[in-house]
Amino acid sequence: MKLNSNYLNLKESYLFAEIAHRVGAYKASHPDERVISLGIGDVTLPLTDSAVAALRKAVDEQSRAETFRGYGPERGYAFLRDAVCDYYADKGVSLDAEEIFVSDGAKSDLGNMPELFGNSRVLMPDPVYPAYYDVNVMAGNEMHFAEGTVDNGFLPAPPEDGRFDIIYLCSPSNPTGAVYSAQQLKEWVDFARATDAVIFFDAAYESFVRDGNLPTSIYLVEGAKECAVEFCSFSKTAGFTGLRCGYTVVPKGIAEGKLNALWNRRQTTKFNGVPYIVQRAAQAVLTAEGRAEIGRNVGYYMQNATVIHNALQDAGITHTGGVNSPYVWMKCPAGRTSWEFFDELLTRAQVVGTPGVGFGKTGEGWFRLTAFGAHDDTLVAAERLNALCRSLS
Ligand SMILES: *Cc1c(COP(=O)(O)O)cnc(C)c1O
Repeated sequence: MKLNSNYLNLKESYLFAEIAHRVGAYKASHPDERVISLGIGDVTLPLTDSAVAALRKAVDEQSRAETFRGYGPERGYAFLRDAVCDYYADKGVSLDAEEIFVSDGAKSDLGNMPELFGNSRVLMPDPVYPAYYDVNVMAGNEMHFAEGTVDNGFLPAPPEDGRFDIIYLCSPSNPTGAVYSAQQLKEWVDFARATDAVIFFDAAYESFVRDGNLPTSIYLVEGAKECAVEFCSFSKTAGFTGLRCGYTVVPKGIAEGKLNALWNRRQTTKFNGVPYIVQRAAQAVLTAEGRAEIGRNVGYYMQNATVIHNALQDAGITHTGGVNSPYVWMKCPAGRTSWEFFDELLTRAQVVGTPGVGFGKTGEGWFRLTAFGAHDDTLVAAERLNALCRSLS
């Protein structure tokens, strides 16, 4: 049987399976210990009241012939695309509703859009969200990496030379929590325009940015509408990881509108759209009331982030993130490798995190912690983390 050789080049997705294996083994041999996870990449707060009310109302509509809706419009319902446009307008970005594509989340679109570019040279950060890497292995694309290091604050700048077809950027970053300034993003936009590249800007964590000086959209940078696609999601912002909804902005300024038209064609052929009831819930998230609720949820997670950040600060551990992002990226104490620290943190402090090396080779010696846990658990875990770090350094 002839299988796609690109798929056969995929490496075993080892990171989360190995974590589950080690944690499972530890718990089995220490049944009485309270193991706390600061490795959660999923949200824990439930849907907000306005999202739930909108869902219920939409379910009722679907139950009556007069208000029943079948196949929806191609790019998503206008009520949601208009709400997204209003959300951007409040940021000072003017978009046309035709530039918005409702999606089932950012991951699918981030993975599918390379199709429109054929065989490509792709530049992505390292460390990086693992899905960017795998989808480009599947596509057989040639990959290059922009390294995030302590020296550049985990915010790599454009390379001195080289041409790429696709450039992935993620800000606030998963896994490092670092956030690009407008000036830094402008360098990428200028680089992309000078070299005829497209930027895939992953803004899944934009709602966690609290510093008003930091951009929550790449379109706040001049020239971005000519070169950048922006991927957004209700997943982390509004707890839609199970409900599934996001949106992707494909400006008509890219390739004289061809990218927008091709993406529409691709989606109408291969994507079934997002359920009406889910789009109604997403619309509710973007109302004034919905945004206030989301703000409180983000505030809850950011309180956790502050607790983790303070625990590391107090122990004198180098780290980034945790200020405008739910992720904290810490240097493993005393020269430990990522997995050595993972094991020590698990067996000596009963806390679980994510080894940085799982996000790329520059992640070796680093470690990711997340703010998505329950507040009480996070307080206990941060105290244990602090004590372990102090004892090691
Ligand atoms: C969680 C996450 C996403 C969004 O995933 P969804 O498919 O919208 O649930 C996108 N990018 C990054 C970096 C993420 O961490």
